[in-house]
Amino acid sequence: MSFDQAFVTLATNDNYAKGAMVLARSLRNHHTTSKLVVLTGPQVSDPCQSVLKKLFDEVRVVDVLDSKDTAHLAMMKRPDLGVTFTKLHCWTLTHYSKCVFMDADTLVVSNIDDLFEREELSAAPDPGWPDCFNTGVFVFQPSMATYEKLMQYSAEHGSFDGGDQGVLNGFFSSWATTDISKHLPFIYNLSSIALYTYLPAFKQYGGNAKVVHFLGQMKPWSLTFDPKAQKVRGGSQDAVASHSSFLLDWWTLYSREVLPLLQEHYGDQPFHSGCVEEEECQEASAAASEASRLSSEERRERWERGQADYMGEDSFENIQKKLDAFLK
Ligand code: UDP
Ligand code: MN
Repeated sequence: MSFDQAFVTLATNDNYAKGAMVLARSLRNHHTTSKLVVLTGPQVSDPCQSVLKKLFDEVRVVDVLDSKDTAHLAMMKRPDLGVTFTKLHCWTLTHYSKCVFMDADTLVVSNIDDLFEREELSAAPDPGWPDCFNTGVFVFQPSMATYEKLMQYSAEHGSFDGGDQGVLNGFFSSWATTDISKHLPFIYNLSSIALYTYLPAFKQYGGNAKVVHFLGQMKPWSLTFDPKAQKVRGGSQDAVASHSSFLLDWWTLYSREVLPLLQEHYGDQPFHSGCVEEEECQEASAAASEASRLSSEERRERWERGQADYMGEDSFENIQKKLDAFLK
C-alpha cells in the first residue's frame, strides 16, 4: 500500500486559522493532488474548526500540554517554545510518506507538487541570514524516531531565535553546506521583505513566484479590505503599496472563497471579517492615527514587546528616515 503525500500547516488561533484557510484554497485552486492537513490548538473557535474541516482533509488538534508523549516533557523544560513544539508535531504524521510544511501566512500562486520529489530537509534560504533555511516552507519525512530526537534536541538546546526556525536549523545543521538539492529556489518561499533588501532581483524574478510568504509582523489578516474599491488598507502606505499585488491576491481569495464559509458557520454570532465599507475604513484610520500619537516611550515599550506599529510611526519609511539621520 502506498502512503499519501500531504501539505501540512499550523494554526493555533483564529487569526492564523484564516491564513490556513486561504492557503488551503490556494493549493486547491492550483490543482494539488496531495492531501491537506492542518494542526490546530485548543484555542481555535468552533466555527473556525468547522471551516477548517471543510477545507482540509485532516484537522488534527494538538495540545502539547495534554500530550502523553515526549512533547509534554520537553514542554515542561522549555515552556517558551510552545508554538514551536506544536509545529514540530508534524513529524508524527506517519500515515503520510512525505510532507511539505507551509506557514499559515503563505499563499500558493502556482502548482508546487514537484516539491514531493525533494528529500528531507529541503527548504529555501532565509532572506535575513541565507546560511539558515526559512521554516515557512520545508519538505520533511514524518517519522516518530525523528520526532523524538527533535523533542529531545529542543528541550536540551532550546532555540537560538526563540522559535522553530532556530531549533530546526540547529538540528538540520548541515543544510547550508552538504547537499545543494536540498536548497529550494527562493521563489518557493518568496518573502515580501526581498523587496526592500534586493529590489532589482525582486523586479527581475518576483513574477516567477510560486509561494508568497507574508513573513514578519504585518500579516494580511491584520489589515482591512474594502471589497468595493478592491483595496487593502490600514497599513503604512509604504507597506501596503509594496506588497499590494500579493496582498490583493490574498484578500480576493479570502473574501470570495473563505468569508462565505465563515459567515455560514458563525451564523448570527459576530466575528471579525476584516472587510469594511468606506465609512468604517475612515473610522478605522482615525483610530489608527489616534494610536500613532502614542508617546515615544510607550511606542518603544510596545516595540520591545514585539508590537511595533509597522503601519504608522514605525513604518519602513520612518525607520529609514531615522536610520538616515543616524548615519549622517
Ligand atoms: N503560528 C500559529 N500561532 C501563533 C504563531 C504562529 O499557529 O500564535 C504558526 C503559523 O502557522 C505561522 C507559523 O507558526 O505561520 C510561523 O509564525 P509566523 O508566520 O508568524 O512567523 P514569521 O514567518 O513571520 O517569522
Ligand atoms: Mn510565516
